[in-house]
Amino acid sequence: MDWTTDLTMYREALRAEGIALARWDLETDRIYGDSAMKDLFPDHLTEEPYSEFLLRRPGLHPNDVKLFEALVRFIKTPHHEHADASHEIVVEYRLTNSQKKEQWLHARFIIHFEKEWPKDAILLLRSTDSEHRHEEALRQKAERDALTGLFNKGHVQGLIDKALAVPGTAKALLVLDMDGFKKVNDNLGHLFGDAVISDMALSLAEVFSPEDIIGRVGGDEFVVLMRNIQDRNTVIVRCEKLRDMLRRSFECGDGRTLNVSGSVGIALAPEFGDNFETLFSCADKALYEAKRRGRDTQVFYTNELREGEKRNMEENAIAEGRQALLDHPVEFIFRMLYETRNPRTTVQTLLSLFAKYFMVQRVTIYQNQGKNRGCWFEWHADGVLPPSEAHKGAVGDFINRSYRKEIYGQFLEFADTSKIEGEISKALVQRKIFALLYASIMDGDKRIGCVGFEDCRAPRIWTKREHEILRAFADILGTFLLNQMRYDMVRRGYHRLEGILETMAGRVWVFSAKNGKVVYMNKATRAIIAKSGNGEVQNCYKVRTDSNRPCVRCQYADLKANCPTALLLRQEAERSSLAPIPIPWNGEADGRLYFSGT
Ligand code: GH3
Ligand code: MG
Repeated sequence: MDWTTDLTMYREALRAEGIALARWDLETDRIYGDSAMKDLFPDHLTEEPYSEFLLRRPGLHPNDVKLFEALVRFIKTPHHEHADASHEIVVEYRLTNSQKKEQWLHARFIIHFEKEWPKDAILLLRSTDSEHRHEEALRQKAERDALTGLFNKGHVQGLIDKALAVPGTAKALLVLDMDGFKKVNDNLGHLFGDAVISDMALSLAEVFSPEDIIGRVGGDEFVVLMRNIQDRNTVIVRCEKLRDMLRRSFECGDGRTLNVSGSVGIALAPEFGDNFETLFSCADKALYEAKRRGRDTQVFYTNELREGEKRNMEENAIAEGRQALLDHPVEFIFRMLYETRNPRTTVQTLLSLFAKYFMVQRVTIYQNQGKNRGCWFEWHADGVLPPSEAHKGAVGDFINRSYRKEIYGQFLEFADTSKIEGEISKALVQRKIFALLYASIMDGDKRIGCVGFEDCRAPRIWTKREHEILRAFADILGTFLLNQMRYDMVRRGYHRLEGILETMAGRVWVFSAKNGKVVYMNKATRAIIAKSGNGEVQNCYKVRTDSNRPCVRCQYADLKANCPTALLLRQEAERSSLAPIPIPWNGEADGRLYFSGT
């Protein structure tokens, strides 16, 4: 016998693969299963007309009913396109069997046609349960935190964002953190710590409703999005219930007891934001406040907290400013004045920074003309006369007169005022002006004001650094403040700004954000970079080979600007801790100004 005609062999092979076989006679609407069908899927066989059975089969998942409706519709209508041929329909569905177990199944119907009418169908049926379980496990792994089974940080963020996008109801984002958890880990071990975290997750699931979204975002830190809250009280009640559950004591075994509890920060939506990132940042600040207030409490994010945060930021900026002034004085002054929205406050802040940095007791800015004529800005230490009194009468006249003589170029400088000839020295000493250093604020070659330091404790020799900084400050002041409109000024005459940048000791350059090319380098930068005879920035191919076209195999082709100048400066910009300043350059609005290494 030809072995290929022995059908039992095929049946055995299919059965070994877990596939059952049946024939569906579409004329009589009866199903005939093979032995595997009877053994593996007895629920799938019936004496009834099979199409009726498929449509009202008990245990079929409601979402999958429509798949069988389509199948039955198909076999009951003619199909010219399949005349005297066959056509395959695959249905993947879920069925709860007589043992109440839901199973995924894969049914392949191979339908044979006589002319245009479906005549009979072969059904190949197998379970795809394990494949689906595997997929599900992979999904769980990607979305869930392994220890607690809650959503992990990456996934919960997306879910919360989606929930926040649904308008209409008030919501609250809670950030929860265990108090004193580290000690549990340190004294009772990491495994014990894990158990405490799992326990916290269970408490969260118990306290919050199934429609709330809960996730673990850090070691002992969790987030909850409460949907549909009535008022603050709804949130408070939940928090208190949770805190009651989290408040626990653990014996260390050496007589010590460890206490843990929970703190919560809350941000209400839409009041304080409509996305995860914004709300999380607010709730996190409220959590910080809860910890600051002694822990085991909940705190709502409020406008007052926001104000407090702003104040702290300003204080930090001043503290950071002091360091930046020490590290990069010229750049720092430039940046402060260029970026500010409030030049008056900035100038005032700078004066007090100078006073602290140089240990001078009075700093003044005078203007010779315009509506701000006279003492324009000043800072003086406690117990020292304000400029209006210190510079009254003969002293002020003397300072002005001395300037006109232009002693020491653009500086007016005395290391010891008692050594000045004439009566004036007495007046100066009497007013405790023991040493002074003034720099002119120039507009072209016209002196339009001055900025000055005074030492009211003792004579002193002014250092080179002090001269430099006062000079730069006066130059920058002249450019920015006397013109008032920063951007307009730069757009109209960036060469004026260039004048300042040019004299800076540090390297300054401007990239065009549009094409990544260097559009300006100051003198200090040009000194280390190849340039052409007329001072223009050159591409490397021009510098090295005097060609006007890029090399065929450019080593820097991945850079927008294919020249080592750009490469060098770009590397330097990446290393720099100072962010670039967006600056309109030469009429274009897309420059990026960089400072480096003073
Ligand atoms: P605070 O009151 O300020 O929140 O202090 P704390 O002691 O609770 O300390 P904190 O929240 O800053 O530290 C959380 C610690 O959780 C730090 C880390 O060692 C630990 N941790 C992070 N992930 C796990 C983890 O999966 N299991 C365990 N057992 N510990 C973890
Ligand atoms: Mg903690």
